[in-house]
Amino acid sequence: METIKTICQGCYFYCGLDVTRDKGRIVRIEGMKEHPVNHGTICPKGIASQQLVTDKSRLQYPLHRIGPRGSGEWKKLSWDDALDLLAEKFAETKEQYGSEALFYHRGHAPGWVTTMNYVTRFMNTFGSPNVLTHAHLCFTPRAIAHVATYGAVPEADFDHAKCIFLWGFNPVNTSLTNYARRIMDARARGTKLIVVDPRFTKTAAKADLWLQPLPGTDLALAMGINKVIVDEHLYDEKFVRDWTIGFEQLREHLATIDLDEVARLTGVPVERFTRAARMFAENAPAVLKEGNGLDQQANVSQTV
Ligand code: SF4
Repeated sequence: METIKTICQGCYFYCGLDVTRDKGRIVRIEGMKEHPVNHGTICPKGIASQQLVTDKSRLQYPLHRIGPRGSGEWKKLSWDDALDLLAEKFAETKEQYGSEALFYHRGHAPGWVTTMNYVTRFMNTFGSPNVLTHAHLCFTPRAIAHVATYGAVPEADFDHAKCIFLWGFNPVNTSLTNYARRIMDARARGTKLIVVDPRFTKTAAKADLWLQPLPGTDLALAMGINKVIVDEHLYDEKFVRDWTIGFEQLREHLATIDLDEVARLTGVPVERFTRAARMFAENAPAVLKEGNGLDQQANVSQTV
């Protein structure tokens, strides 16, 4: 038996793994204790990653469907034959319908960014702009807002925060080995936790304060919280002076907002989001991390 140190590519955390194999077969997968990302922890997907290698239905070579759709009739092809067949189909499509008739949709598996760039280049060369991704539903709208505001996407420093504000983010289910572990360690040190989520998630169950807005009303809730912080002078004046622009315009806009209207729109009582605003502002340093929950609505960039 031998244990090999490697990383999991099941998601973007790239956790360290100790993979033990016996006579060429994987017999155990564990989190690598000394790895800085996961500190020995592992999620169910990481444990199940053995199946990526051993699962009987794993695709190991090109298959060409030769029967009607759904018939399950496939023929094994060599890579050369598969590439020839693809080239033939692409050429036929271009001749019959024009190059823009070729449409490419990609997922976003970790570790294949370079490959993805080559495929996009291929589409450019072929003459089709029709490259689509799921990015509008996952991260990119938030990244646009962060880059426009800070010039980059910041990473939340859960390890030094006195208050953690999670918005549309459920790491206890989705990020067990890193974010959830660090946030729960922070909780054990006395860090406050505020969670905004329409659902009572496992993360919400751990919070000091859970706000449950109606889906799609996050921007209204954010403006209500902003208004409380500004009206009660709970913000860091030096930071605002040295590092921000447009604060007076924000103050003027907030003056037009009615907290009762925020409560009516969001379904969150004024008293509850006021408590969140005070808890967040009075426990510096505080971090706010938003998640994919926000991406599911049209105004996500403005909300962030
Ligand atoms: S969180 Fe799970 S799936 Fe993601 S890299 Fe770590 S072990 Fe793999």
